[in-house]
Amino acid sequence: MSPTPLIRIDILSAVPDIMVSAINASIIKIAQEKGIAKINLHNLHDYSDNKFRHIDDYPFGGAAGMLIKCQPVFDCIEKLRSERDYDEIIYMSADGQNLNQSISNELSLKRNIIIIAGRYKGIDQRIRDYFVTREISIGDYVLSGGELPAIVLTDSIVRLLPGVLGDLSSALEDSYQDGMLEPPRYTRPAEFRGMKVPEVLLSGDPKKIKEWENEQSINKTKSRKPYLLD
Ligand code: SAM
Repeated sequence: MSPTPLIRIDILSAVPDIMVSAINASIIKIAQEKGIAKINLHNLHDYSDNKFRHIDDYPFGGAAGMLIKCQPVFDCIEKLRSERDYDEIIYMSADGQNLNQSISNELSLKRNIIIIAGRYKGIDQRIRDYFVTREISIGDYVLSGGELPAIVLTDSIVRLLPGVLGDLSSALEDSYQDGMLEPPRYTRPAEFRGMKVPEVLLSGDPKKIKEWENEQSINKTKSRKPYLLD
């Protein structure tokens, strides 16, 4: 029997096909094969009570575009909630809180998460008011749908789960984990087309290497994202 996953993520979408290859490749695939994470895609059209499987309708008040209706989302979430408790119901939204590493760290400690990917002009406000515990944006721009944001969030969570990456310390040494950007990294050969790897990295002296990395991290953070140092 496969072990109980550390995290289960259910993603609701009008176009789940967009996410199929992303959840079946690389790190998210490995996490699922190891039984550490379980990612389920739910097609909102399957929950529509409309004979043509429509899930959208015109907004009241005359705004342009269409909105995802309450009914399919309520039915899908209520079905999922009848099967288990959820720690978070997240709506991916351009007007939500901007995603950052500490949000992903926090969410990686949860057991069951629902993510709603919007489409069209978005979703009926009553879904947000009734179910949603958190609204997350992946940046100050508007995409056509929440599927790519849902995958961005899922990837950022899943890669933090113990056992997913060959060496968890690799994720912990990434940018943002200690509030700073990662220093430059080099691999073999030590010289390529005349470009040499910094001498200190070949010195074999862990203390000197750490000092150099810290200095590089601080300089990079100061010049690119100084607000992280505040
Ligand atoms: N009318 C919405 C607004 O002005 O904020 C934009 C709707 S957008 C065309 C459709 C869906 O894409 C949204 O419901 C949301 O799920 C998703 N989306 C778009 N941009 C996003 C972003 N930056 N971060 C997260 N989700 C986003």
